[in-house]
Parts: sequence; C-alpha cells; structure tokens
Amino acid sequence: MPLMESSRYLNELIKCVRCGSCKAFCPTYDEDMTEAMGARGRLALLWGLSTGQLKPSAVLNDRIFSCILCGACSGLCPLEIDIKELIYLGRSLLKGSDVKRRYLRLLTKFSSKRPELSFNLLKIAQHMLFPYLLKKGILPFHIELPEHHLRDRVQIFTVSKKRGRVAVFTGCTVNFLYPHLGESLINVLQKLNYEVILPVGEVCCGAPLRTLGLEKEAIELAKKNFRIFSKLNVDALLSLCPTCTLTLKEEYPKLIGEGIERAMDISRFLINKIDSPLPSLASQSVTATYHDPCHLSYGLGIKKEPREILKNIGINLIEAEEERCCGFGGIFSLSFKELSQGLLEKCIGNYTKTGAEIIITACPGCMIQLTKEMKNKPVLHIIEAIEEALLID
Ligand code: SF4
Ligand code: SF4
Repeated sequence: MPLMESSRYLNELIKCVRCGSCKAFCPTYDEDMTEAMGARGRLALLWGLSTGQLKPSAVLNDRIFSCILCGACSGLCPLEIDIKELIYLGRSLLKGSDVKRRYLRLLTKFSSKRPELSFNLLKIAQHMLFPYLLKKGILPFHIELPEHHLRDRVQIFTVSKKRGRVAVFTGCTVNFLYPHLGESLINVLQKLNYEVILPVGEVCCGAPLRTLGLEKEAIELAKKNFRIFSKLNVDALLSLCPTCTLTLKEEYPKLIGEGIERAMDISRFLINKIDSPLPSLASQSVTATYHDPCHLSYGLGIKKEPREILKNIGINLIEAEEERCCGFGGIFSLSFKELSQGLLEKCIGNYTKTGAEIIITACPGCMIQLTKEMKNKPVLHIIEAIEEALLID
C-alpha cells in the first residue's frame, strides 16, 4: 500500500481532540509561537484540507512543509496518532500545489536517481558554485566535497579471527560528504574482528524524497534497498546516520509493508554485541557535550547508549541544560533558512555554556549544522571518538 489509505487518513485525523500535548517539545512551535507552526495546528490544517474547508495556498503549504519531522511529538499523543505519518501524507497530497519547493523536488529526484553523476558535477563546479550560492543565501552552509566518495567499488573488508559479519548502509551524507566517517566505522569494526561488507546497489534511503512529498519515488528506492539488504546473512546492518536507520527500520514498513529489522545504530550495536570494555582515553581527560540527534533519540529511542560508550572510553561528559533540536532536518535547512538558523543559535548557546572542549554527536546531518555556527570547538561523530580510543589500545 503506497500511501495511508484515504479512509485511514481521515480516521486518524478525526481522532485528534486538540488537547495540545503534542506541542510540548515541538521545535518549530517553540521558535515561532504560532499555533499553525506546531503539531496540533498542522493536524488542524490537514483536517481542514481533507474536508474541503481549506484550500492549498503558499502559506498553508509552508506550515505543513515547515515541520522538521524531528519526531518530538511522537509518543506524546494520548490517542497514539502517528503525527509524522499524517504530515508525510499531507505533503504528498500538497506537492502539486507547492510551487516554492519545485526546484528542490527536481534536484532531489535527479540526485537520488543519479547520485554519482550529481556528486561529480558538483565537485567540478563547487569552487565557483558554492561561494555564489552562499552569497545569494541559497545555500545556508559551506561544504567542501571530498576527492572520492566511499563506495567507489565492491567492498568486503575481511578479518583473520572473525567474530561476526556486518553490512554497512553508508547513506548519502557519509558516502558523498563525510567518507572519512565510513572509513572510521570500517576500522572500528575490523578492530573488533567483524568482517564488513558494503553491498553493491545501495540507493538513497528515500527520506529526502518523502520530506518533499515524493512518496512514489521514495517507495521505488525503499524496494531496491529492501531487495539488497533484507537477504544478507549478517549480524546487523549498521549506519552512521540515524535518519537512514530510522527509515530502513521503522518507515519502510509504512511505505512498502516490510522493514529491515537488522538495521541498527552503531552505539546500540556496540552495547549489545561487545562484551569486553572498549579501551579508555582517560589519560587524555577530554570534556565533551553530547548532542542528541532527533531521529536517534525520539525516533529510535537511543539516548543512554552513546553516553555509556563515551563514558566507557573515558570522555568526561558535561550535559547541556536542555536538549534542543539543531535545526538541520536536511531539506528543512534549505527551505526554511531563518527558522533553521534560529533553532541552531539556541542549540549552540546551550552548548557554549557547558564549557566542554568538544561536541560529540551521532549524525552527519547534525555535524553539518553544528559546524556552521560552532567555530571554536570541534564537532565530532561518535565513531571518531571510538576509533581514537581503539587506536590508542
Ligand atoms: S515532527 Fe517535530 S516539528 Fe514536526 S510537528 Fe512533530 S514536534 Fe513539531
Ligand atoms: S496530542 Fe494527539 S489528540 Fe492531542 S492535539 Fe496532538 S495529535 Fe491531537
């Protein structure tokens, strides 16, 4: 079933009693303070649209497309309404009238169909194109594309004393922007005696397409990935991007009826599978603040595992006063630059107060966003800290 059936959509929407519990941690409501920029308001707009009381308009579309899809509202609804799923469906119904994001849709469709070609074209053009786009305010962050992407060829990384076998879902951000993170993951897994495979044929998980209401295109990609990854004889399918893991595991069942059960985040994998303690960086006495990626904490419920790992390797964790979304949200940061920047500044303000030397997170998207504003502290992915500890050992 490609989309939630129309009757089910209405049945879900009609359940809402407008109690407002879902607004409690909504970052866009927190930033904007208007009803239509929160979870409850968005559902009221979708109800108005589905009953014909409202018509699509630029303003209404912006309210629905400005949801960052962070999932902070998930689990807060006493009636267990799947708010994010309704917003995805609302977007797919609105995409025809959503003129503002039409070029983003074209570019996202093209790059998800031809990722290598898009990467190579951008690499050739980056030194002229990126400064221009930055100056015009079209691109909200600077990024230097690496020389090579991670998945250049068929890859199997063997080990002599094999403890197990894992597959890696690289995801577009790690593959094309931060291949060094993928290399760190492979190093860590090999050091722990896991054979690692990067199967041929991986495609984008489909999340950016869904974000823009392109459900049909996301379903095509989901089917391709499912065909490749669901049949592998591996202990786990690991990804360094929580959005990819969440999509493969939790959202594919809603898109294609089946998810990839073994998709797992690296910190949960290490806590579950590795019985001996990881080596400690204690002699370095590093202080760090850990940033929770929304799709890891709200989506996959993983908060304590990365902290446990960081403490195990001897990092002195200093918690921020409050947990805040960094405002990245992939396409959101391109489509709602001011809102994204406002969320980022609050988040950074929070981390500056901790006095920690570094910021550690577990999402390449959060790294892009935090690096933009965090000028005097390094922002690392947790896999880099783990690799550092294992190198010392
Ligand atoms: S997913 Fe996040 S931004 Fe969207 S309505 Fe829920 S809490 Fe708000
Ligand atoms: S918490 Fe549930 S019932 Fe209450 S306003 Fe939000 S979606 Fe509606």
